[in-house]
Amino acid sequence: MVKISKIETYSLLIPDFDSDACSSAQDNFVVKIYADNGLYGIGESDTNPWGVKAIIDSPGTHAMGRGFADILIGKDPRNVEGLWHELNEKTMMTSRRGLGICAIGAIDMALWDLCGKIYQQPVWKLLGGSKKNFIIPYASLLPEGHTLNEYSESLVNKTIKSKKLGFKAAKLEICIKGPYSHNNLHIEDDTEFAKMVTLCRKAVGNDMVLMADVAYAWSDWKSALKALNMIKEENLYFIETPLPIEDLEGSAKLASRTDIRIATGEMLQTRFECFETIEKGRVDVIQPDVGRVGGLTEAKRVCDYAEDRGILVVPHCWKSAIGIAASTHLSATTLSCPYIEFLPKELAESQLRKDLVLEELPVIDGKIHLPEKPGLGIELNEEKLKQYNV
Ligand SMILES: [Mg+2]
Repeated sequence: MVKISKIETYSLLIPDFDSDACSSAQDNFVVKIYADNGLYGIGESDTNPWGVKAIIDSPGTHAMGRGFADILIGKDPRNVEGLWHELNEKTMMTSRRGLGICAIGAIDMALWDLCGKIYQQPVWKLLGGSKKNFIIPYASLLPEGHTLNEYSESLVNKTIKSKKLGFKAAKLEICIKGPYSHNNLHIEDDTEFAKMVTLCRKAVGNDMVLMADVAYAWSDWKSALKALNMIKEENLYFIETPLPIEDLEGSAKLASRTDIRIATGEMLQTRFECFETIEKGRVDVIQPDVGRVGGLTEAKRVCDYAEDRGILVVPHCWKSAIGIAASTHLSATTLSCPYIEFLPKELAESQLRKDLVLEELPVIDGKIHLPEKPGLGIELNEEKLKQYNV
């Protein structure tokens, strides 16, 4: 019998963070779950790091509002799906969406890592096995700059650099419209958006896969369609979050009227929200974030559902090499998961992204080969974990 003996929670933040920046790589929440045999697993989640730490560490006060750590201590960590169910059921009143599901997500990721170390197997084997020999990460490119020109130049340069680094695919973050515009750059006219896509396509040619993320730029599907029609020739693999997250009817109408795949899902929690977005929003690509959707257990359920319906899965990931490793193992088990999101260290500003993991899964010639080490196959930098802990 193996038992969970200790849970450690960490809220991490880089000292020079900018609360106006549209980058969630500036902070992180990490959980370490120890077994009484001395092994431990690690997980992370993309949300407010203090909030999720508090919700895990807090004691419970009644039957439908138990404490997360309290539930776990003394349990067998190998019963991962059972623990997922128990955590969800016993926190039903306090945590069924938001921070609670992010907490379950980080815990579940850590439990799979721990199980892999106990069984001396990579996580993808424990999830049922792999359907591929390698996983393709796409480079997620967030431009910088205070003017439209600087922003555009930065994006083109990063696209060229990502190709030089060997990436087969890259995503252009073009956040110049809508509620999350970069540095308050806000351009109503969509010709600027179209120009940036065209410049990046010209810079890298047709043999590189390009996607674009507009961060909920358009408030209605007809505006979105008009803008997408401007870039018909640029062969985008998908357009991410063109519409408000709740506008599933608009999403369905847009999806039926453009050839560009509609992608969304980074904020969705639990398989149920993903299923609803697939069915009602008619999206082509669902993008669960492993830590935020509820962990590998829940993300795998989303993958199975999507695969059965011919929907693509391209997991969201903006944190560290911990989440990237989780996405890698998930993608290995899913035929319809052609890419995973990946922040190249070389092109990321956040020191956390660069430093937190000592040994990450290597990208060789634009591919991550099937990991063979036990668990997630990565090693935390304990010194940096302590240094960034606040
Ligand atoms: Mg996004």
